[in-house]
Amino acid sequence: MLIVAEPIAERAILEVTGGVSCYSAWDIERIADQVTERAVDPSPQGLAAECGVPIVLEPLLPAAVPAQMIRGTIYYRSDRLRGLAVLMILHELAHHLLPRHVDHSDVWSLTLALAMPLRVIRAMRHGELHAPFAHLPAWAVALRFEMPTVLLAA
Ligand SMILES: [Zn+2]
Repeated sequence: MLIVAEPIAERAILEVTGGVSCYSAWDIERIADQVTERAVDPSPQGLAAECGVPIVLEPLLPAAVPAQMIRGTIYYRSDRLRGLAVLMILHELAHHLLPRHVDHSDVWSLTLALAMPLRVIRAMRHGELHAPFAHLPAWAVALRFEMPTVLLAA
């Protein structure tokens, strides 16, 4: 699904906190763990490659569309991946990984879990990592840290 850049934060927050889920929160975490643990390259491009999804740099995408899946391939606009661009590639990948989703609740939850896996959050809390999510939008980090699975994870 195409999402333009402006209202993304508001929509993601509404969908994660009040959308319709087909998967349990722990199923979402398990999918994210499986993908992120086995990926040699933890970048969004690396995670897509790990899932067998072709990913192609396409600078002609409009500025409001940092990434979009078209016929099984994720196209992304710029190699300078920070902020929303990271999330949007992972969002498109989450669509691919969740064939059953009915709305964007599960898709956004998995997007955030792929961007901020539980084991990375645990390492951060134990002082092993410093500011590991500085490249992500602050609203996304805040939303991730309000997810019940993160609140419960020691
Ligand atoms: Zn979507």
